[in-house]
Amino acid sequence: MQSKDQIGQSTKKQALTVDVEDYFHVSAFEGVIAQSDWPTLEFRVEKNTYRLLELFEKKQAKCTFFTLGWVAQRCPNLIKAIVEQGHELASHGFAHQRVTDMTPEQFRSDVSKSKQVLEEAAGQAIIGYRAPSFSFNDSNTWAYEILSEQGFEYSSSTYPIDHDLYGVPNWPRFKFQRPEGILEIPVPTVRKNNNNIGIGGGGYFRLYPYWLSKRRIDNYLNVEKQPYSFYFHPWEVDPRQPRVGGASVKSKLRHYLNLSRMEGKVIRLLEDYQWDTMKSVYLDRGI
Ligand SMILES: [Zn+2]
Repeated sequence: MQSKDQIGQSTKKQALTVDVEDYFHVSAFEGVIAQSDWPTLEFRVEKNTYRLLELFEKKQAKCTFFTLGWVAQRCPNLIKAIVEQGHELASHGFAHQRVTDMTPEQFRSDVSKSKQVLEEAAGQAIIGYRAPSFSFNDSNTWAYEILSEQGFEYSSSTYPIDHDLYGVPNWPRFKFQRPEGILEIPVPTVRKNNNNIGIGGGGYFRLYPYWLSKRRIDNYLNVEKQPYSFYFHPWEVDPRQPRVGGASVKSKLRHYLNLSRMEGKVIRLLEDYQWDTMKSVYLDRGI
């Protein structure tokens, strides 16, 4: 039998997030696709995101869309649809560069350009930011100062796990206020054998069977009593996307693994929990 606490937690809302980028923007392919090639590649993110909007409407889920400025420039109507349907629009930067590869000046320029494009298309202020590939770490904490100066209020740019491409295993696991005035909301993890295991979505969610992901999420909610947040990408529900040649076997395995099963898993997740925006769940503010 569930305790009152467990029942209380399971009826609370969790935060649903989508990083709005296309299959050719991902960091795994940055070595084989140049930014100058992006306009020549088949653009699929618009159609895929409209499909997600339909799905969220059907399942009565609200979501935060961390959107690339590069995408918003190409489909302002999609941005309007996101906002009109009561979701939160937030920034994923302009050109999907890892913050670890940028100078403070480059970061300021990328982030302010994305904010401007998104705000123009949406007609409302953008307060949330997510760094490409969760690339905030000890080497670039100056980024918080710049986010604050640009009018952002929160960030979800850290993943406290040990991983070859990203991760800050020694950073906090739950939301915390940075001295620069930004609320940082890390991707959720569970503790196992003195390690943090990522349970926030993406590749892990595609790799593991749904029952295991659900068991870990339930464990997190019951033990930690913290809100849960989930992230995924429009290209993860697009098994027919063009295959990128020249990438490493590891990158291809990560990117293409279980794409055909992803949508079914996301639908189960939408049905098993109640979903709202980052702003509502973590800042307790409506849209
Ligand atoms: Zn991304």
